[in-house]
Amino acid sequence: MERKVSLKKLSSFRIGGEAEFFLRPKNISEISEAVVEAKQKSIPLFILGGSTNILWPDDGFEGLIIKPVSGTLEFQGDEVTAGAGILISELLPIVLSRGLSGLEWAGGLPGTLGGAIRGNAGAFGGETKDSIKEVVSFDMDKLEVIKRDRSSCSFDYRTSVFKTKGNEIILEATLALKPGNKETIQKEIEGRVNYRRERHPMEHPNVGSIFKNVPVASYKNLDLERFKKVIKQDPFPVIPTAFLIAETGLKGVSCGGAMISPKHPNFIVNVLDAEAQDVKDLINLVKVEVYDKFDIKLEEEILILPENPS
Ligand SMILES: Cc1cc2nc3c(=O)[nH]c(=O)nc-3n(C[C@H](O)[C@H](O)[C@H](O)COP(=O)(O)OP(=O)(O)OC[C@H]3O[C@@H](n4cnc5c(N)ncnc54)[C@H](O)[C@@H]3O)c2cc1C
Repeated sequence: MERKVSLKKLSSFRIGGEAEFFLRPKNISEISEAVVEAKQKSIPLFILGGSTNILWPDDGFEGLIIKPVSGTLEFQGDEVTAGAGILISELLPIVLSRGLSGLEWAGGLPGTLGGAIRGNAGAFGGETKDSIKEVVSFDMDKLEVIKRDRSSCSFDYRTSVFKTKGNEIILEATLALKPGNKETIQKEIEGRVNYRRERHPMEHPNVGSIFKNVPVASYKNLDLERFKKVIKQDPFPVIPTAFLIAETGLKGVSCGGAMISPKHPNFIVNVLDAEAQDVKDLINLVKVEVYDKFDIKLEEEILILPENPS
């Protein structure tokens, strides 16, 4: 068990204080023991992946962070079973080397497999759920291992049973892929990586899109004519939040060390040693301005700690 671990260093936002306790468990019994002890001592628990989707508070986390390791990596035919802690950027070249197709959409997706499953991460019309065959998790209340097939994971837009229940650690998952042509797979992955490089403000620390895109279906009275040109599939029709923010004229607006990216306004970038409050102030500003202009309530995609209601 490590002590006083810098979350600023671990987070892709480069914001956050220290975690009091930090565990990279080697097996389930280490997880189980740590969970039991934390509960007995009423120590708050948090499960961490790549920290690419989290805004940590500047005063850190007064509890225990468990960070699952990469663990297993096993192939059986066109299926691969991987530990939750493996980075997507590590997994993609491995499945590519075997000529397995299905994850091309995830080219350039930061973070771990566990984080992607929990939030059903998606891009370019693909979603994590599309390749999931089975997910193995550990229930921190019942202290038991659970196996679920895809249909029992309640995947939906940027969510899953693991997000809604919130008391399970994803340990590993089996992905069902298809044989494909290595060259084509590689080209598709590279295409996604290059697209992100060009459009995303990777020159500054960030946590990706701050807000979810706006599903057209959830706004019955929208004047769709107004958004006709920008509606895209994600994987169902959405109005890109970046467009809404750009229309409010907030591109490039900053607060302390944080700025609404002029390159991609659904990103907030840490340009100058930003504090968590700088980011929160910008989030509130965007929500108010978008609501005033479009009558649309934006929902955060990122996790803001201490926990936000979304
Ligand atoms: C530049 C950039 C681009 C991005 N583009 C996209 C995109 O195109 N599409 C998209 O969907 N997201 C995108 N993201 C957001 C982020 O990469 C994804 O949400 C990613 O899947 C988060 O994974 P993570 O391992 O970093 O999770 P973390 O940020 O560490 O955690 C996110 C949540 O998952 C939980 N979690 C993590 N691991 C586990 C586990 N093993 N068991 C249980 N819970 C767990 C955490 O408790 C937390 O609640 C982007 C981020 C960045 C920085």
